[in-house]
Amino acid sequence: MDAPIIELAARVKDIKASPTLAVDAKAKALKAEGADVLNFSVGEPDFDTPPHVCEAGKAAIDERFTRYTPVPGILPLREAVCSRLSADHGWHYQPDQVQVSCGGKHGLYNMAQALFGPGDEVLIPAPYWVSYPPIIQLAGATPVIVPLDEESDFDLDPAVLHQYVSPRTRGIILNSPSNPTGSVLSARALEAIGKMALERGWAVITDDIYDTIVYGSDKLPHILDVDPRLSEQTLILNGVSKSFAMTGWRIGYTAGPKHIIAAMNKIQSQSTSNPSSVAQRAALAALTGPQDFPVAMRDAFVPRLAFIMEALTAMEGISCVRPRGSFYVFPNMSWCYGRKAKDGQVIADSVSLADYLLEKALLATVPGAAFGADSFIRFSFATSMEVLEEGMKRLAVALGELH
Ligand SMILES: *Cc1c(COP(=O)(O)O)cnc(C)c1O
Repeated sequence: MDAPIIELAARVKDIKASPTLAVDAKAKALKAEGADVLNFSVGEPDFDTPPHVCEAGKAAIDERFTRYTPVPGILPLREAVCSRLSADHGWHYQPDQVQVSCGGKHGLYNMAQALFGPGDEVLIPAPYWVSYPPIIQLAGATPVIVPLDEESDFDLDPAVLHQYVSPRTRGIILNSPSNPTGSVLSARALEAIGKMALERGWAVITDDIYDTIVYGSDKLPHILDVDPRLSEQTLILNGVSKSFAMTGWRIGYTAGPKHIIAAMNKIQSQSTSNPSSVAQRAALAALTGPQDFPVAMRDAFVPRLAFIMEALTAMEGISCVRPRGSFYVFPNMSWCYGRKAKDGQVIADSVSLADYLLEKALLATVPGAAFGADSFIRFSFATSMEVLEEGMKRLAVALGELH
């Protein structure tokens, strides 16, 4: 007799694994087979963690700083987060208003578990980061997707937002600069969101993970600068994954009202206990040491952004909003939907286009469908100029073969 197949919980059946990580895995598998894959799908900087940060991690091991830490993270790290928020933005937080988590994604997860449940609706502007809807669903709540327009540079139109608000709305997730579009929310949009949030008592989650990767010199508008009262209902999410090229160390942080951070700490205490002690020491070195690394990394992205924008918009049919931050471009590729490849394969949507580009041109990209926007595909330009040049050549050839 066969062993019985164990049923899975309903909550996991409704969830898909992260599509960006799936594309990355497929590209890496092809590469392992010897294929010359150019990877534009990765969502991480192509820089190494700065040496002084690595040294701090090594020193932590040598000092045997290898035991459990306090649930919300070590005090010096939470103090360092407060200092950065104050120095960089003029916002004042105390260490008991900060939680350090196992990456920014985990901070969002703790937050959703602490704030939302069945019957609650959470507004998510689309294109959105792939993990927002499943994280809300895993809390038992309902993601409500608010479409943004390419024509308005993916800014949020308050009139459109109104259409998706209901008495069950409990919160909204903001991400500016955005992954995948690189767009930022205007002061006008943030004012309207802030006003609605104050009137209706929403939690405002602001994912600021790309706030050190901004092009141009203008200070980005921020929801907390709209009205000081909003700090009572806003959660700031950030981390060192992108700013210090530390994706593998898994350190993120959340700052917000004390009672919400305390609730998140309860969740963390019963799940991961604390983030890695060694990684916390490394993150401490990142936040308290010289701040030139994020600036140098941003500066290195500038010519790559200029190159890929020019290459994409020179191709027939493609339109692409110029990113104001992040290391992604999100061109509209819908002109080729419905066309056929040489072998008769029909490019029906963003998923079949990404498959075609991976199989025929050995270009790994992420289909826009993963971000709730099927007309687009995402290219990361956190890759060398040589790869960008070769990749854009291959893209032009592959698209030229469609008819
Ligand atoms: C990368 C990223 C994060 C955080 O990632 P972690 O690796 O979990 O720190 C959060 N939000 C967005 C939009 C991201 O792209």
